[in-house]
Amino acid sequence: MTAPDPAHPVSLDIAIVGAGFAGLYALHKLRKHGYRVHVFDAGDDIGGTWYWNRYPGARCDIESMQYSYSWDEQLQQDWQWTERFATQPEILRYIHHVADRFDLSRDITLNTRITAAIFDEAANTWTLTTDAGVRIVAPYAIMATGVLSAPLVPNLAGLDDFKGAIYHTANWPKDGVDFAGLRVGVFGTGSSAIQAIPEIAKQARHLHVFQRTPNFSVPARNQPLTPDTIAQWKSNYPELRRYAREDTGSGTIYDFPTRSAKDVDEATRNAEFEARWAKGGANFMHAYNDLVIDEESNRFAADFVRRKIRETVKDPALADALCPTDYPIFAKRICVDSDYYDTFNRPNVTLVNLKKTPFDRVTETGLRTSASDIALDALVLATGFDAMTGALTRIDIRGIGGQSLKDKWSEGPRAYLGVMSAGFPNLFMVTGPGSPSVLSNVIVSIEQHVDWITDCLLHLRSIGAQRIEPTTGVENSWVRHVNDVASATLLPKAASWYMGANIPGKARVFMPYIGLANFRRKCNEVAANGYEGFRIGQSN
Ligand code: NAP
Repeated sequence: MTAPDPAHPVSLDIAIVGAGFAGLYALHKLRKHGYRVHVFDAGDDIGGTWYWNRYPGARCDIESMQYSYSWDEQLQQDWQWTERFATQPEILRYIHHVADRFDLSRDITLNTRITAAIFDEAANTWTLTTDAGVRIVAPYAIMATGVLSAPLVPNLAGLDDFKGAIYHTANWPKDGVDFAGLRVGVFGTGSSAIQAIPEIAKQARHLHVFQRTPNFSVPARNQPLTPDTIAQWKSNYPELRRYAREDTGSGTIYDFPTRSAKDVDEATRNAEFEARWAKGGANFMHAYNDLVIDEESNRFAADFVRRKIRETVKDPALADALCPTDYPIFAKRICVDSDYYDTFNRPNVTLVNLKKTPFDRVTETGLRTSASDIALDALVLATGFDAMTGALTRIDIRGIGGQSLKDKWSEGPRAYLGVMSAGFPNLFMVTGPGSPSVLSNVIVSIEQHVDWITDCLLHLRSIGAQRIEPTTGVENSWVRHVNDVASATLLPKAASWYMGANIPGKARVFMPYIGLANFRRKCNEVAANGYEGFRIGQSN
């Protein structure tokens, strides 16, 4: 596309926002069906989440042989992953390979943030506006904006006063950061921090880790992939992918359990936990089939991890501070690390327990807690995201009657199957709230949603319809169902970002859907029944 001219709106069949895994697949798939499709992205490169999260140690916590597209057999045969858990640079190389291989870049405009999307009820079109004031008009818009893509910068007193450098893990400088000789503070101890801390500690003169809530983490045991492992996957890829898609709860293949942690004696249980701990990765959470639903079983797993923390961290008081105690393990996303706990044995690393000595303010020269002033040259905010909804509510999206999506979602996001929201016709979301998204191998979920949206658009085209939206009735039932499913587990028992609890003032509603295979069946059923629950029309 030639450089858009603010004086003339760009006309498309489908406008896609976001050039990450979701947007790229949607572009490829829809373009093949003859639609005029174009992708807009705020970054100066493609990759979405995997473009922005370039902090040291950034790595996927799902195994690389599973964390990749499944829609092109030759692609999955040709691409060579090198490590069990791929690094961010390797994933970005993969994304570039896909874009080049399928000639995607010619339909992508970078450095372009979509700031508004307004529905025209008479014309049944969306008008998107870019930060350069360009308008894009299309009957359909697809928000492939990601679920962990709106970084959260907490409102920390004094942050603007700090004279040193401030970095956010989700907006890391492209050329990297040299921490050698510096006194560095990492604020936050979630997955991003847990990956970055061991790497920063190797460089920094001194590292202070500011922890409000400790997290549970399991070792990755990352290693180079062997030719045998790669061959086993590749010789059976179609069947393994089918199995992941249709027969698992999360789209990732693990050694799945068959029994409850309470059905075995303590020695057997600990041997199982030990074996999984030695093998590494999130496989640990699948040791027994009731770890996320039964409090006693959950406690067995949590106690095991706490024992491991105490075995690893030499100073008992420090180990205690690193042990989570006030929420069930797995109720927050389990972290997968390389030497996280051991890093606290280094002489140049200090844990600052903000529960004991609360944060007071950032100063010109560092950070003040109730106990002391800590001098810092650089501050890393590993403070997470306005997850699941932030990327959407930060855009001024207005549907029927000028209603804003942000207002509609002020008491928690309301969407049907995470793909559309009532009152916002022709606006699709990929892995939106109410879909498995973050509780799944997100690439599997992305493919499922993009396939479903494509089938839906082809259906509309075949019957000459111009407008689709879910009814409020099915949407309400779905939101209730999402929460009922969650309530049968321990997941709502933590103040997690799944619940919106990491953002002051955000409604506390469980947002993702638990159960990928069930979700897929439901989506297929809805489509097979002529998009049951959706209102389809020629016009308004
Ligand atoms: P996160 O899990 O939300 O962690 C944010 C951290 O910042 C928490 O420790 C939080 O403490 C702290 N924090 C936020 N605001 C604070 C405040 N005002 N005062 C004190 N502490 C504050 O974010 P994340 O680590 O970026 O991870 C988010 C998700 O991204 C993960 O759960 C995972 O799904 C995904 N992720 C995946 C990978 C991977 O594939 N390996 C890597 C990174 C991230 P509290 O807990 O007390 O709120």
